[in-house]
Amino acid sequence: MSKNKLSNADMEKMFYEIVQYSKDQGCPVTVFKSLEKINGSNGYFSADPEPHIKVALKNRPWPKAIELIIHEFCHYWQWQDGFLGRKDDEGNLIYSRILDGEHVSPTDREKASQLVRISEYDCEMRTEKLFEKWKLEEIFPPEEHKKSAATYNRHIVWSIGDKTTPGSGIFYAKYDTLGDKLWGNKKFTFFWDPTTSSGMAKIIEPISAEHKAVFDKAAGIKASKVAARKGRA
Ligand SMILES: [Zn+2]
Repeated sequence: MSKNKLSNADMEKMFYEIVQYSKDQGCPVTVFKSLEKINGSNGYFSADPEPHIKVALKNRPWPKAIELIIHEFCHYWQWQDGFLGRKDDEGNLIYSRILDGEHVSPTDREKASQLVRISEYDCEMRTEKLFEKWKLEEIFPPEEHKKSAATYNRHIVWSIGDKTTPGSGIFYAKYDTLGDKLWGNKKFTFFWDPTTSSGMAKIIEPISAEHKAVFDKAAGIKASKVAARKGRA
């Protein structure tokens, strides 16, 4: 790919080529141009009753639309592989109950927190493989993508919580804008390797107080309760 930035028309064409590719691979895609969200998210893959993807494109720049469709296609790829014994959906179902404001048991919360994080991180690793395969690194620099995958991972644990700590129960859609606040100058040359115990420990690590504060502030959650509690301790 040349140094020249791709035009919007080029990227639109590429987006619809990926839509066609997904369809050819057995996973049809429905594109909603006039919706910002579809069933509460930017897009999703579901195998119920048959594999399909839905994506919402309103107000989404083409690079973000391309990233979204590739990400959702990678969930289909996971499904084809029988990734996590296809149990990742159990995690997503518990997560949607949490986002609906339902109280779930610490055991279910932990289950969702781990399944969703492991599944999404794996999906981001597959996404990067397709960026490489399709020569898209100029639009999606690998280090930026790894950082974004780490930010997404931290967003999930902030949102769902884990065994000992309830999450915010909020999906903060603009989480990706918080990368610099979370990580400063940290370089992301490698993915956390889920096949090693140290890599997996990173993926399912609890949220740190510092990271929690970044998300809370962005989502407009007041720190007063925490401060008050600290003040009394
Ligand atoms: Zn995903």
